[in-house]
Amino acid sequence: MTLDSTDLFGDVLDRRVVPVLLPMPAPRGYSYVVPDRMAVEPGSIVQVPLGPRLVVGVVWDGPDDGTVDPKKLKAIEKVFDCPPLNRDMRTFLDWVANYTITPPGLVARMALRAPTAFDPEPMVEALRLTERRPERMTATRERVIAAASDGYSWTRSGLAHAAGVSSSVIDGLQAQGVFETVFVPPPPVVTAPDPDFAVPRLEGPQRQAAADLLTAVEARNFSVSLIDGVTGSGKTEVYFEAIAATLRAGKQVLILLPEIALTASFMERFQDRFGAKPAEWHSDLAPRTREKVWRQVTTGQVRVVAGARSALFLPFEDLGLIIVDEEHDPAYKQEDRVFYNARDMAVVRGRISGFPVVLVSATPSVESRVNSEIGRYRPIHLPTRFGDAALPHLGVIDMRRHPPGRGGFLSPVLLTEIGRAIGRGEQALLFLNRRGYAPLTLCRVCGHRFQCPDCSSWLVEHRFRGQIQCHHCGYSERMPEACPECGTLDHLVACGPGVERIAEEVERHFPEARTIVLSSDLMGVKRLRLELEAIAKGEADIVIGTQLVAKGHNFPMMTLVGIVDADLGLANGDPRAAERTYQLLSQVTGRAGRTGLKSLGLLQTYQPQHPVMQAIVSGDAEAFYEREINERERAALPPFGRLASIIVSADSRQDAEGHARGLRNAAPRVDGISILGPAEAPLALIRGRHRFRLLVHGRRNSDMQSFLKAMIAAGPKERGSVSVQMDVDPQSFL
Ligand code: ADP
Ligand code: ZN
Repeated sequence: MTLDSTDLFGDVLDRRVVPVLLPMPAPRGYSYVVPDRMAVEPGSIVQVPLGPRLVVGVVWDGPDDGTVDPKKLKAIEKVFDCPPLNRDMRTFLDWVANYTITPPGLVARMALRAPTAFDPEPMVEALRLTERRPERMTATRERVIAAASDGYSWTRSGLAHAAGVSSSVIDGLQAQGVFETVFVPPPPVVTAPDPDFAVPRLEGPQRQAAADLLTAVEARNFSVSLIDGVTGSGKTEVYFEAIAATLRAGKQVLILLPEIALTASFMERFQDRFGAKPAEWHSDLAPRTREKVWRQVTTGQVRVVAGARSALFLPFEDLGLIIVDEEHDPAYKQEDRVFYNARDMAVVRGRISGFPVVLVSATPSVESRVNSEIGRYRPIHLPTRFGDAALPHLGVIDMRRHPPGRGGFLSPVLLTEIGRAIGRGEQALLFLNRRGYAPLTLCRVCGHRFQCPDCSSWLVEHRFRGQIQCHHCGYSERMPEACPECGTLDHLVACGPGVERIAEEVERHFPEARTIVLSSDLMGVKRLRLELEAIAKGEADIVIGTQLVAKGHNFPMMTLVGIVDADLGLANGDPRAAERTYQLLSQVTGRAGRTGLKSLGLLQTYQPQHPVMQAIVSGDAEAFYEREINERERAALPPFGRLASIIVSADSRQDAEGHARGLRNAAPRVDGISILGPAEAPLALIRGRHRFRLLVHGRRNSDMQSFLKAMIAAGPKERGSVSVQMDVDPQSFL
């Protein structure tokens, strides 16, 4: 022990004790002693001993829990030289923890996802021109000196690049004292955006929309606006004005995007408007970049972040606006560890800090639509596409009347249109939200179906890779030639289509066409970005893709979109199935006709009269929403009622079911709240774990959180392999 620690443990009574939230499933912070000369405040990011380890935590508000004998407490090891999480951020993290029924330390951990960024970035070595000049001047040396004469410090590689010389020339000059070494702060990850860089001329309804939005934004207090307008109407252009106004006011901006890794085109557009790119935040960032971004967001160097849902937990220095683009997108819901919806939590964050939040969608969620109808959100409409871009003409193909040929999945009507589009030198997109070749393989002789050994799901054939694979756990095996059940050779049949199978069919019909399959399992993000660029440049005739082609891309020559199976999303027991299908299909068909060319969207369906199909082809979104809203209201489903689901899983079916029953029996009796189940989950087995679900339904004003907490507290303790997941406002019912 050093002298310091003797000081520290000298006077027990005087010691300051604070709660520190640690990244652990504990209900509150752990108590730690603050060493004498250490300055901490609520929000300070600290390192503390925990058993044999050192862990990072945050000093939290309130008194410590006082249950531990102060003599036994350990001391905070270190305070990081990093801005503390401010009060709003701490209130927000507590709020999310309480709402989602998650231990607060696990929520706080989401704000600290940059392990080595808590200390300041090291200064970087740079070169500065001195008064000295080399003994012998050469043309290359002159160029270097000319380039460095601007009075700034330069990095070696930057200067070599600017002067067009190799770095050995610079080494030579430095050796002669022409340059001295200086240490400068690290460069920002992105340069600051300029709100006045390229101000667009807004047209027609865009002007009113921007004026309405600016009223909300300039009020500088909490409000939620919902920009609702068809794809291509200029929603992005309009919310860029809100961003500009916020930047002018000196505040930071967060733009949430559902599929950030794929939105290179968004970054470029932002740069065209603001002269610099926003900082990106998503799971594919290189660790170094990630840490720089985190750090520079906390210090305020980064002014705008465009990120995936996790960006909501970045500790901004002074956030003044959040945009949630494609607010209806299911990707905003995280269903892993902390179950939260980033769209809803963005609204909470705005309310806590008193700043505006803007939700944006061509097909808003029913929840947001209702909120704008009852005046809780400010509705902002953009009814028409910008310029001469017309919406595609949309139609259904009744598959009962125009069935595909034997062994095929594409109706002759669709095939004819594909032929026409590529005949005109334009592009066609076929959408099917199913990866692989076929969703099910069976033996024609004995009927054996290939199933995952660890999940209750069929194995999906991936013919390109010669494998069959489980889409829930990743289990895969080589595609067998014989049936493992009856041993018969060459009698395995693929049932139903995946994108690979559609590609095969397309190649059969259009052998000359350049066909490309876009599916997340076939390529990484980088490759995907390249492929998307290539498609935009016209380097493919027919694109066959899964969900990821739906989002945000701009393909100017895409004049035909065919939905291979429009009924696919309607078949499950999800109360949002119709809404989801409507949103996804609208989004995909919206890929067509982004320029002046005439375009067509066709939906293959066996239910042409279904309200979803009718809403899309008639363009009568209002009727669809009205119907959906009425149905939700009748069934008291969100936003007219509240839902929470509880998933109990265990290594044995019996344990899972027993625990779920125990929870149900322990639930308090509360007027207006009822429980369905436990029932075996539709996905009854995932990764070898058996799953049971309880669905809690409450009236709109019921206190769901208190109910759930009381139920857990009174219920059986989680023992052995049992684990319980709470999902408040569930999106998935599987
Ligand atoms: P949305 O976000 O509604 O899909 P965008 O903002 O992306 O619409 O606009 C669609 C296209 O029209 C984009 O290429 C955009 O640059 C262009 N655009 C929209 N409004 C304007 C405008 N006022 N001036 C110039 N181009 C515009
Ligand atoms: Zn599996």
